[in-house]
Amino acid sequence: MIYLDHAATTPVPKAVADAMYTVLTEQFGNPSAQYPYGQDMKKQVESWRETIAKAVGCETKNLFFSSCGTESDNWAIEAALWQNRRVGKHIITTAVEHSAILEPLKLLEQQGYTITRLVPDKTGHITVEQVADALREDTALVSIMLVNNETGCIFPVAEIAELLRERKSKALLHTDAVQGFMKVPCDPKALGVDFMSLSAHKIGGPKGIGALYIADTVRNPRPLLPGGGQESGNRSGTEATSQIAGFAKAVELRSENLSDKLAHMTDIKDYCREKLLTIPGMVAVGEGKAPHVLMVSLPGYPSANIVTDLGAKGICISAGSACHRGKLSHVVQALGLDKRTAAGVLRISFAPETTKEEIDGLYEAIAEHQKNRFPML
Ligand code: PLP
Repeated sequence: MIYLDHAATTPVPKAVADAMYTVLTEQFGNPSAQYPYGQDMKKQVESWRETIAKAVGCETKNLFFSSCGTESDNWAIEAALWQNRRVGKHIITTAVEHSAILEPLKLLEQQGYTITRLVPDKTGHITVEQVADALREDTALVSIMLVNNETGCIFPVAEIAELLRERKSKALLHTDAVQGFMKVPCDPKALGVDFMSLSAHKIGGPKGIGALYIADTVRNPRPLLPGGGQESGNRSGTEATSQIAGFAKAVELRSENLSDKLAHMTDIKDYCREKLLTIPGMVAVGEGKAPHVLMVSLPGYPSANIVTDLGAKGICISAGSACHRGKLSHVVQALGLDKRTAAGVLRISFAPETTKEEIDGLYEAIAEHQKNRFPML
């Protein structure tokens, strides 16, 4: 198999699975239990939190575990709107956020909130000026992702934070850093965000565990899940100890020589782009600078067919975000591409382990597909 869909999810290294297995079988104590076997687990959870917080660049007291990136996104929206309930009912976001942001905002729209959805230009980028033009007195939340999961575009989150400060806006700033964590700099204090969402399964961790950074600017956040008081009372539920152990182990592994890994991914992405663009008709889409995501298109060749054909040969790429299951994604629609280019969009995404031989295999398979198919009119 040639797996080139690391923006969808990543394989779990054996050391991560082993760390989880040990917790499941030998260290299964409940961190809330009073006896040493439970209290040891509490200490472990705090040491895993420390590992992750160190990689994020924040203090442990600001990092809370959740069940996934989707939950973190929903949580950030809810917490921000609760704190700013007297500021107003206006929210700024982009038209290309993950559905974990767009869908809850649709529901809020039905409850009387006004949502401004900024549309990117053809390169996939959003500017701070767009946010400046949209900002109002009653803006309660600005939620702008750090890296787009389909184009790989990096959004100017730090500049947006600066704008909010200059305008003395009361709006809280959330960034969905699910695709940015350990790919681009994402220190939440340097970015100036109030909330930042993370997910383990994009960096070699297990699915079903995420985290939310909540800055000190958020006073007494309303608990997402009231109950037994875990996560400092912000998200109750017995800690997912084996998942947290896997998340921390994945972070630890990814942190080793991270800059070399990022440089390798950048090289692989450049190699892949150059190679694929030699295929007749292939065009680059957007100008995403994140090291792990490349968007291209074979205008006139429906991407769903290419993805299915390649899948049958054991090559995994995506026609867009895995969450859209074959439909033209909202990100592709927002880019305003002509119909034929939009229909042919392919997303290829890389890991530190991706090799040039894998890219050569992808190139040959796409070239062969394209030779054997007539483009749609
Ligand atoms: N945000 C972005 C940008 C993503 O790419 C994803 C997953 O694809 C999510 C949120 C959701 O994360 P999870 O799958 O952990 O719920």
